[in-house]
Amino acid sequence: MKSSSAVRAATWTARVILVVSASAQVAARAPQSAPSPLHVMAPDARVRGTTSRVVALVAEGTARSKTLRTLVDEIGGTDGLVYIAEGNCGHEVHACLLFSITKTPTNRVLRILIDPSRSDADLVAAVAHELQHAFEILSVSWIQTDAAMALLYRRIGHLDRRRYETDAAIKIGDAVRAEFRAGEAAARQ
Ligand SMILES: [Zn+2]
Repeated sequence: MKSSSAVRAATWTARVILVVSASAQVAARAPQSAPSPLHVMAPDARVRGTTSRVVALVAEGTARSKTLRTLVDEIGGTDGLVYIAEGNCGHEVHACLLFSITKTPTNRVLRILIDPSRSDADLVAAVAHELQHAFEILSVSWIQTDAAMALLYRRIGHLDRRRYETDAAIKIGDAVRAEFRAGEAAARQ
């Protein structure tokens, strides 16, 4: 990140259009080859869109962004199920991981809401940002309750407008946006 303090001070909306040095470097790389994204929405997929738009976005995002593919694969190695739905987070926030964890006998279930009115690149970046938060939770096996989630974020996060934020989520969102846009540009050629 160019300046994490400047990023922290920015609003979520400002962050998603911020181009920092890290994402610019990613964008400068050669376009990624595009492996089949179909595994993402396989019946046993751990990252699941709940509408056709979200499914298409995640498929396109993973085809164009190696960073997003890696993140989805990492979540695939956990006991988590992450549902991504279109919805309103309130407070002028365009995407959020709900601060609530549900347990099934074999899985920990998390939910992400995204505002579908945004551009594809911003939506994919927002999905990646929130999936990083999901992975922060799912990679720690003892986080089984909402209270444990809060404990984790008091430890790894910093407060940003009364919400917990992590530098890793900001960085991943920016990197995925840059990769997605590079893929869009390559597809137009
Ligand atoms: Zn965040």
